[in-house]
Amino acid sequence: MRKVSVFGATGSIGQNTIDLIDRDPSAYDVVALTGGANIEQLAKDARRLNADIAVTAHEDRLDDLRDALAGTQVEVAAGQTALTEAAARPADWVMSAIVGAAGLPPGLEALKQGATLALANKETLVCAGPLVLETARAHSARLLPVDSEHSAIFQALVGEDIDAVERIIITASGGAFRDWPLSDLANATVEQASSHPNWNMGQRITIDSASMFNKALEVIETKEFFGVAPDQIEVIVHPESIVHSLVGFKDGAVMAHLGAPDMRHAIGYALHWPDRQTLPVERLNLAKLRQLNFHEPDEARYPALRLARNVMERGGLSGAVFNAAKERALDHFIARRIRFLEMAGVVEAVLEKFEAQNGLLDAPLNLDNVLQTDHLARKWADDSVMQKTG
Ligand code: NDP
Repeated sequence: MRKVSVFGATGSIGQNTIDLIDRDPSAYDVVALTGGANIEQLAKDARRLNADIAVTAHEDRLDDLRDALAGTQVEVAAGQTALTEAAARPADWVMSAIVGAAGLPPGLEALKQGATLALANKETLVCAGPLVLETARAHSARLLPVDSEHSAIFQALVGEDIDAVERIIITASGGAFRDWPLSDLANATVEQASSHPNWNMGQRITIDSASMFNKALEVIETKEFFGVAPDQIEVIVHPESIVHSLVGFKDGAVMAHLGAPDMRHAIGYALHWPDRQTLPVERLNLAKLRQLNFHEPDEARYPALRLARNVMERGGLSGAVFNAAKERALDHFIARRIRFLEMAGVVEAVLEKFEAQNGLLDAPLNLDNVLQTDHLARKWADDSVMQKTG
């Protein structure tokens, strides 16, 4: 039996992972399941899968979790430190599906144990790519991508030499507002941004898809994961979300990965890697699809893509700043303190403020510095919003 843990088990990726585990429960020994506010779901899954431990990120919900798991053998714990401790429990395969920078410390801890880390949490590589890769190398741990785009690229590269790659083309659905006139975007509401045309995902990543901050994170993640140069990465809008990404080689060949928009493909690929197993995803009928569309993204509509290029060129701790400022800008948009198009302005202002402070972005890339940078970037994002809103 394979020992598996799911971090962010109550979320969209976490529940899809559990759906796959549930289809063959005798194959897995579940070590840790973690969640946040959704205690009921966490307890339900931990009880059914007989997990060793269930952890909620919220310390004040420990008693609720304990009550919900009364009468079982499942241990309970709460808080960020408990999450990292749970990641230190030996497991063969760990799903990293916490949302946001909070996913970084448990992910790093799992790598230190030599686990295979299935990485849905894109913030891990955006905030601390070189540190994460070095930790994996030092502990002979493996990273497998779960984002559909990175899984597609990874699959297109099987048996290939990375030096033969000319470019990586990441597809983007364009999000909720891809067909809106630019002039209407200023008044886009949280509800409108929270509805994705193709994918069923958590609210935060859905809004990030509408602004393309999600794509911006993926572009940075691609540079880190595959070690390519920023100018080798292209983004193309593909409204149908059938082609998940493409790799162009030196000889002109382009390998595309196609599939129905269902995250259980990428999760299942990472779960069964290096094998392929039957997965419960819809099979493509190309004749029925008839056509697929592609067009270049309009950077005026998606300023996040320009910011991502700046971050890749700048390096250092700028990824951690970008992600933290983005997370706070998103919080303020969800709280209706700023407008949809103002999110990019907040992120840019915070990046500029860091650049203006000598040495801040060039401090050594270790976990303490990433967490401190994350903290300061959030504060400066809040300050920037306060200035805007008075
Ligand atoms: P969700 O918001 O659906 O789920 C997030 C999970 O993290 C939940 O279990 C949540 O708990 C938990 N959580 C929230 N805040 C914290 C915290 N501070 N500390 C610890 N745990 C916390 O997100 P998704 O599943 O959509 O996304 C998860 C990650 O995967 C993100 O990084 C996202 O970018 C990435 N991703 C998602 C895809 C998708 O299709 N959804 C596709 C590719 C990548 P609770 O809900 O109980 O509060």
